[in-house]
Amino acid sequence: MAHDITFSMIKPGAVKAGHTGAILKMIEDAGFSIVAMKKTWLSKEQAKQFYAVHKERPFYDHLTSFMSESPIIALVLQKDNAVQDYRKLIGATNPENAEPGTIRKLFAQSLEQNAVHGADSDENAQIEASFFFSKTEIYTNEQVQASSEVKMAS
Ligand code: GDP
Repeated sequence: MAHDITFSMIKPGAVKAGHTGAILKMIEDAGFSIVAMKKTWLSKEQAKQFYAVHKERPFYDHLTSFMSESPIIALVLQKDNAVQDYRKLIGATNPENAEPGTIRKLFAQSLEQNAVHGADSDENAQIEASFFFSKTEIYTNEQVQASSEVKMAS
């Protein structure tokens, strides 16, 4: 299992509020490579599927309505220790408990509308990345490096 890939979404509230650029800058400044990215609009069904692990929770219906109310940005990110380092960069689920300077502290509107999603394990990062992207839409640093070496040599 790769330890250098994580999956993130910029959630509808943060996209609508115009924070996409600032959040992407924080991600790159923290040393992550954006190896796949798309703006897309989840249906309620897709949001329910993505958050199926929470289906018994009282906030499931509200959360999945919020996540499908307007477009999100889906991201695959690469860095050593990606999952843990990204969870540190985004901060606690509840922005009230998030460290100063974290993405959620800066951009969350509420516990539910907490600006970004971050995968919580290497396994879930892979599952979530493949929920949004096919293999041919993810350009890892190694692939880009190998391909540019071939182009430079020709
Ligand atoms: P995460 O991994 O930090 O995103 O946290 P979880 O997997 O526990 O929760 C998934 C998402 O559900 C969170 O990011 C919030 O958007 C939302 N959420 C979590 N707990 C609550 C809650 O108690 N109430 C509401 N309304 N939303 C919640």
